[in-house]
Amino acid sequence: MRNFLERELSRSYRTQCERHHRDSDRQLSVSVEPASPCTNLAVVTTDCFHVLLFTRGLVIEMAQVLGLGEPLPRPNQAWPSSHFRCFRQLTAGLLQLLVAGRQSGGGTSLLQLLIKWLCAFRNLFMQRCARCDRILRDQLPPTWFDFRKDDRPVYHLACKSAVCAA
Ligand SMILES: [Zn+2]
Repeated sequence: MRNFLERELSRSYRTQCERHHRDSDRQLSVSVEPASPCTNLAVVTTDCFHVLLFTRGLVIEMAQVLGLGEPLPRPNQAWPSSHFRCFRQLTAGLLQLLVAGRQSGGGTSLLQLLIKWLCAFRNLFMQRCARCDRILRDQLPPTWFDFRKDDRPVYHLACKSAVCAA
């Protein structure tokens, strides 16, 4: 399962970035350690942030986003919240996404959702919000992901409420 997770996440991320964003040199670094006989702890690192994942089989039970400069917790240590509002917002959005994914079947579809989410935020701090077309709003980049959309699915949290109300 560990090897499958490492291989599948890196491979799918590369394919998805190439296919949907014509972005061919994107790499994901993934390291997976066993946390117990049936659970794993994965650290996924993109160009912009780390994502800590606690997985049981193919089900992602917990996720946390941290900045690249923030220390990663040691095994058996509680996961710290990021010091940065931006990464805390990303964590909240990712957890909501995983709940939605679990309700729609879990398993590989959950991994596919995670990959979509990782690709959508591969240019955090450079990409524009799909609603207001700005990079920063209230000094924050877009951190909310609309998984129903394929094209530019990221929004500022403030812009998200307007989209959801529409
Ligand atoms: Zn916006």
